[in-house]
Amino acid sequence: MGEVNVEGAQRPTRTKQEMGGTGRSQMFRRRMPASARRQTFLRRFVLAPARDALVNEARTEVDDVEAMTTEIKALVREMGAEAVGIAAYDPRLVFADAPERDHRHVIVFGLSMKYDCLIDIGPRSQAEVHRVYYTLDDMAVRLAQQIGSYGYSACAQPNMGDIPLPAYGYLAGLGELGKHGSLISPELGSSFRLVAVSTDLPLLVDGPKDHGIDEVCASCNVCTRFCPGDAIKPDKKEVNGVLRWHVDTPACQPWFYKMHGCKICLMVCPLNARGRLKAEFQQVAADIRQVKDAQGMVRLIEQRTGEEYADGDGNGDDDDDDDGGVSSTDR
Ligand code: SF4
Ligand code: SF4
Repeated sequence: MGEVNVEGAQRPTRTKQEMGGTGRSQMFRRRMPASARRQTFLRRFVLAPARDALVNEARTEVDDVEAMTTEIKALVREMGAEAVGIAAYDPRLVFADAPERDHRHVIVFGLSMKYDCLIDIGPRSQAEVHRVYYTLDDMAVRLAQQIGSYGYSACAQPNMGDIPLPAYGYLAGLGELGKHGSLISPELGSSFRLVAVSTDLPLLVDGPKDHGIDEVCASCNVCTRFCPGDAIKPDKKEVNGVLRWHVDTPACQPWFYKMHGCKICLMVCPLNARGRLKAEFQQVAADIRQVKDAQGMVRLIEQRTGEEYADGDGNGDDDDDDDGGVSSTDR
């Protein structure tokens, strides 16, 4: 099994802070579709201030932890999540600049992106990423507030929250970290996004599961081959005390910003075909055979979207906020 040993984990710092601001996201934001700009506004100014649940002083005691776990998972599914699992809260896996909370559990859930948008890398796919993140943040805030009404502390954990979501997705059994640095789910492949709620509500932990994904990544190099930034490394590396697959974020970011939030690595991952995207992946598999390398893939995407990526720069002055994409906390 591709077990990730977190015993020696040190609290991670956010990627963008490590880089000290490189000056690209302003241009990125100016080119955002209008829906993405609205959803960014709602996430930042409406949902983020409601992350911490109001806690009901009249607590409902939990006598049956298993029943409560079932109830919470059913609620998350009812809200629209396609995958849900529960991890133990680990103070070592909290961003260094975030508060350490007196929480015990993290409920992690995911929602897939429409794959036809994902393979069309441009404004459409960017709008889709923001639609999914907005939907997930809204669900997480509602779930946190529901838990608060039971009399327990809860906090929604969006993409730019306190915790690295892929790590908790792994610890909740939702999938395994792929070579491309994002979580891969056995059902949803690489084309989904995550959110979480941390809480002190008594729950049963799912824990990591062996989905056979790490073994596939060890002998596959499709994402490495089609990454235009040569950012996906063939070997694992120790990052913040944990040996894991690692993406060279400074190499990824110019392409990420240039390509409306590049997702080539997520799109080409053959593990998309293992779950319910089997039929949809056939077109991508044909593209992979046809274009052969990263430059060919960028040219194909340019032809399909009418965007120009190969020579563009995407530079601008930086600010530090959430681009809703693959970088920062997704890594
Ligand atoms: S493309 Fe291959 S190596 Fe990359 S994440 Fe998917 S399965 Fe792993
Ligand atoms: S988002 Fe694009 S540039 Fe970044 S790692 Fe994936 S394929 Fe490479």
